[in-house]
Amino acid sequence: MPSGMLYISPQLHDFQDEFRTRRSWNITPSQLATRSLNVIRDIVENMNISSNPKKHMIPLSIGDPTIFGNLQPCEEIVEAIVESVRSMKFNGYAESTGMEEARQAVATYTSCSGAIIQAKDVILTSGCSQALDMCITALGNTGQNILVPRPGFPLYRTLAEGAGIEIKYYNLVPEQKWEVDLADLENQIDDSTAAIIVNNPSNPCGSVFSRNHLQAILDVAARKLVPIIADEIYEHFVFPGYNYSSIASLSTEIPILSCSGLTK
Ligand SMILES: *Cc1c(COP(=O)(O)O)cnc(C)c1O
Repeated sequence: MPSGMLYISPQLHDFQDEFRTRRSWNITPSQLATRSLNVIRDIVENMNISSNPKKHMIPLSIGDPTIFGNLQPCEEIVEAIVESVRSMKFNGYAESTGMEEARQAVATYTSCSGAIIQAKDVILTSGCSQALDMCITALGNTGQNILVPRPGFPLYRTLAEGAGIEIKYYNLVPEQKWEVDLADLENQIDDSTAAIIVNNPSNPCGSVFSRNHLQAILDVAARKLVPIIADEIYEHFVFPGYNYSSIASLSTEIPILSCSGLTK
C-alpha cells in the first residue's frame, strides 16, 4: 500500500454522521498541543531585537557549533552517507526500530564489560530528543511524575508536560561540582514517580559525575525501585582530566534506558 493512502471504513462513516450536529467550525487545540511548551524556542523564536551598530556582537548562537563551521564531520562519515544515498539501496522503508546493521553497530560501540548490549536492545530514533520522548512516554502515565535535574535541559519538561506527566525537580549542588543532592533526590520520589532522568555529562553545568557519584545515584534508585532515563548525549565529550562512565555500565540490576546521539 502506498504511504499516505487513507481507507474510510464503514465505522468512520457512522462517526461522520455524528459530526453533522455541528453547526460551524470550532477547532480547538488538543490537550497535548496546549500543554507543550518549549521554553528555549519560545524565547529564541519570539525574539525581536536588532543589534546595536556601535557595538561588536559576540555571537553565542543557540548552542549549535556548526553555525561557525566547527565540529565538521570527518571525511569517512561524509563519504559513507554520499555512498549510501548514491547506491539507491537505502531509500525505502527501514524497520521501525532501525536497520539491523546500524543497531548492531550502536550495540558494539556502547557495550562495555559492565553492560553487554545487543542489537535488540537498541532503538534508533530521530535524534536524542525523540529517544527521550519515547523513554518518557514509555514509562510515564498522565498523572504520574518524573524527576529531572535543576538546573537542567528544558526539553524534559516540554515532553513530559505535553503527555500530562508532572515534572519534579531535584537539585544539583554548585559547591560540589554540580553533583546531585542525593537527599533531595530521594525525598522527591513518591508512589507516582515513573522515572529519574540523569543527565551526565550535564547541560548546562558541564559537569561529569565520578563513578562513585553515579553509584550513589543508583543506590537511591535501587532503594526506591525507580528506573533511570540516562541522557548521555555528551558522552565522552569531557575536559582533559575527567573520565566519563555510562551509568548503565555500573549496574545490571536497575532498569536503565540510555539516550545518546550523533548531534553533539
Ligand atoms: C541537545 C540535547 C539533547 C537533544 O539532542 P538531539 O540529538 O539534538 O535531539 C538532549 N539532551 C541534552 C542534554 C542536549 O543538550
